[in-house]
Amino acid sequence: MSGADLRAELTALHLELPRQGLVTWTSGNISARDGEGLLIKPSGVTFEDLTPESMVRTDLHGQRTEGRLSPSSDAATHAYIYRHLPHVGGVVHTHSPYATAWAANAREIPCILTAMADEFGGPIPCGGFALIGGEEIGAEVVRVLAGHRSPAIILQNHGVFTIGPTPRAALKAAVMAEDVARTAYLAHQLGQPQPLSPADINRLYDRYTTVYGQR
Ligand SMILES: [Zn+2]
Repeated sequence: MSGADLRAELTALHLELPRQGLVTWTSGNISARDGEGLLIKPSGVTFEDLTPESMVRTDLHGQRTEGRLSPSSDAATHAYIYRHLPHVGGVVHTHSPYATAWAANAREIPCILTAMADEFGGPIPCGGFALIGGEEIGAEVVRVLAGHRSPAIILQNHGVFTIGPTPRAALKAAVMAEDVARTAYLAHQLGQPQPLSPADINRLYDRYTTVYGQR
């Protein structure tokens, strides 16, 4: 997908962020790799005001190459991820509340659900604190996810980044991350959640990624 189709897809996917309860006001953004650059949400625009034409194209250092509006302030982070992880075609960033509550505690989300073993292949890792603006956040995302099966990371005191081969896959990971973060939170309120064994996590992950669904 490229050009007008990619802009339309990216606009439609952004509307899923408020619909899925992952964002408030203008926070949160999705990007798509586009050749030697990326397309990303413009900064400070509400989701219902987004149009395919309003999406901003930047190079792989987050510098605008096309578009009237300024790119999301997270553009440098997205660009860093695409530059260092060539298999990534889409990136999503949110402050979705349950996952971000774990991040505020600097706690990884433990793998206590089969759905987590399926989607994330283990816990959702928590990266260290990094200030927004430069490349520190992107470097932390890449450092942690490069050696991990999880397509999702929570960043201490901040929020969630997810990656995927497409923007839609990254969005699915963001939706699933918030869902399991909520269930894991509820489980901890009830008492002692039981961990899954590494062997069972591997079996679940292998089955889900090779057998499950339509082939
Ligand atoms: Zn953020």
